[in-house]
Amino acid sequence: MTDRLARRRQRLRARQADRFARMADQVHVHNPFYRSKWRAAGFDSPPTLDDLGGLPYTTKEDLAADQEANAPWGSNLTFPFDAYVRVHRTSGTTGRPLRWLDTPASWQWFLDCWLAVYEGAGVTPADRVFAAFGFGPFIGFWTAFEAAQQLGCLVQPGGHLSTEQRLHMMQDDGSTVLLSTPTYALRMLESARRLGIDLAGGDVERTIHAGEPGAGVPAVKQRLAAGFGVEVFDHAGATEVGAWGIPCGVGEHLHVLEDEFIVEWIDRETGAAREPLEAVAREAGGDDLGELVLTNLGRIGSPVVRYRTGDVARLCAAGCPCGRPTVYLDGGVIARADDMFIVRGVNVYPSAIDALIREAGGVAEYRATVRRRSQMAEVEVEIEPESGQDAGSVRNRVQDLFEERLSLRVPVRIAGSGALPRFELKADRFRFEEPSSPVD
Ligand SMILES: [Zn+2]
Repeated sequence: MTDRLARRRQRLRARQADRFARMADQVHVHNPFYRSKWRAAGFDSPPTLDDLGGLPYTTKEDLAADQEANAPWGSNLTFPFDAYVRVHRTSGTTGRPLRWLDTPASWQWFLDCWLAVYEGAGVTPADRVFAAFGFGPFIGFWTAFEAAQQLGCLVQPGGHLSTEQRLHMMQDDGSTVLLSTPTYALRMLESARRLGIDLAGGDVERTIHAGEPGAGVPAVKQRLAAGFGVEVFDHAGATEVGAWGIPCGVGEHLHVLEDEFIVEWIDRETGAAREPLEAVAREAGGDDLGELVLTNLGRIGSPVVRYRTGDVARLCAAGCPCGRPTVYLDGGVIARADDMFIVRGVNVYPSAIDALIREAGGVAEYRATVRRRSQMAEVEVEIEPESGQDAGSVRNRVQDLFEERLSLRVPVRIAGSGALPRFELKADRFRFEEPSSPVD
């Protein structure tokens, strides 16, 4: 680390310590959830940043149990209920949805994080930002949209339209930025091809993707970049945590917005702290993965402290070629901890399978079935070839890549055209079948 970078890191740490102390002072006095958690861990007075490692982790299960015990809102509230003006919900993919309340100040904090995301992606007030999603209770859509408006962009809501209508609207209104999940952007490409719309020759200059790993997967990113003729940016955030992932713009990295979040990196199994990796080459250690733990510093009304995100990634120390002084994830979020499985001794995660299927090319859609048997799992894949593709050779390419990349022989079946489901938001291509009784 250069002296200059070290000094920037010191200043960052000082700002974090100051923000953490201000947050902890209020939370320790007024927030029943964290006050009891911290007191149980021996903190009778507000902790400082130096105490962080001694504070208990917060898990989604803790928050869900608290909302159940203190229904309906839970007790992670620093202010009287009347101070809150918005409620959103998590998607509930891993259990019952959580409710999340925000005050005007914490809502603005979330938008400010998004402004940093837009800055990282090079979005300016001159841009026209198209939001390719409907506005449900999920917080990410609203915050992305409102922040774009605050930046001064022309914002274009694209909810409750067909993919074809969205494509025409983007063309007609000269959209320059597309916000969507990676999955949906791929679907737009497929539709545009079918409709004869030339996206690469259009006005869109950049796409920003969130909601699932994907935009950090090189094969997906390249496909989107070529299909739309754009720069592709990855972002990550969560309802409970905020918008924490800043696109790098130089490498396939996602920086942590450390001005607003304290990041820790831990062993998924043991919970033990890990040191960020030193400037990692992509090829070096693909399996060197850990879970991100985040503390937000500006959402005082409903904070998370040492929150186990379930996001699995490779965290690299500061020193990215882009010049940002913050730590970063090599390849973005690689997987969700719940979605990883072991097939014949090989650690497999959905984004790795997604990457090799995209790399094979010629696949319009696919579905994977994972059958878990005690510690072991079997995986089987169905693919729907793009029209005009030779199904047999697409299947062979996919099978070969499974052997090459993961050393696995995986059965690949061909599905008829349009037989597999398409997705608008987060893809649900992986079916996990648990045995009702032990098999082996
Ligand atoms: Zn960078």
